[in-house]
Amino acid sequence: MPEAVNRIFVFIFGTIVGSFLNVCIYRLPKDASIVKPRSFCPHCKTPILFYDNIPIISFILLRGKCRSCKEKISLRYPLVELITAIIFLALYLHLGLSWQLAKYMFFFSLLIVVSFIDIDYHAIPAYLCFIGIVMGLLFEAIATVNLLKAGQLTSLELMPIYISLQGLIFGMGFTYLFKFFGDILLSIYLGFRKKESIEGEKESLGLGDVDFMGLVGVFLGIKAVIVVFFLAPFFALLYSAGALFFKKSHLIPYLPYLSLATAVFFFWGNQILRFIGFTF
Ligand SMILES: [Zn+2]
Repeated sequence: MPEAVNRIFVFIFGTIVGSFLNVCIYRLPKDASIVKPRSFCPHCKTPILFYDNIPIISFILLRGKCRSCKEKISLRYPLVELITAIIFLALYLHLGLSWQLAKYMFFFSLLIVVSFIDIDYHAIPAYLCFIGIVMGLLFEAIATVNLLKAGQLTSLELMPIYISLQGLIFGMGFTYLFKFFGDILLSIYLGFRKKESIEGEKESLGLGDVDFMGLVGVFLGIKAVIVVFFLAPFFALLYSAGALFFKKSHLIPYLPYLSLATAVFFFWGNQILRFIGFTF
């Protein structure tokens, strides 16, 4: 098959997965099933016909309006489909058709779901990162067994599962320590201001962030945890500056920035590590 066909196929596959991620983002926080019922318009509850449910294309053909009630369809649906497709294509160009490709398609799909749920609710269902961590360890366990069978493992330090477990413990431990001291500093600050803390302002980092960094550690290791942890605040700061400018809430969801930093690390991590002279 010509390479261009592969790329187009991966992109289309990304839009289809993205369409499913939309369903997860919408239904998981409501504890609703992600398989039944069929997709429906959130306004008029009319089931969406299969030919109106084609990723990205249907949105354009319908000009962003529901066929029955003409209510606007959120631009987020085609956006999530497009983001997923672009990431899948980038992963394919980076990794080729491989076991790694499947692993990271799963990983980044989860990051998209977690980010958009966090944008809506400022929290995520705790089981999402847990499922990701278990799946990640499973991927690495299988990879370890395969390497052992091939006789390619000479030491414990080279075992994928060992590296992942290290990443998990480091990711959660490191972030939890920061949260612990951050919370103390924040409570001193709030006490100093003698002000009742506003809901959500009590914590420097949420426990969701701790789980999330464990997830990053499992899939990408210790270096990723450190880079993502210190890179994400820059993205958040850029957004906060904009949000303050437009007088929006100062409460910002943090997982989208951690996800963005994770993607940046994944694709440009080596350059970043070389740039800051960070080698160990
Ligand atoms: Zn409708």
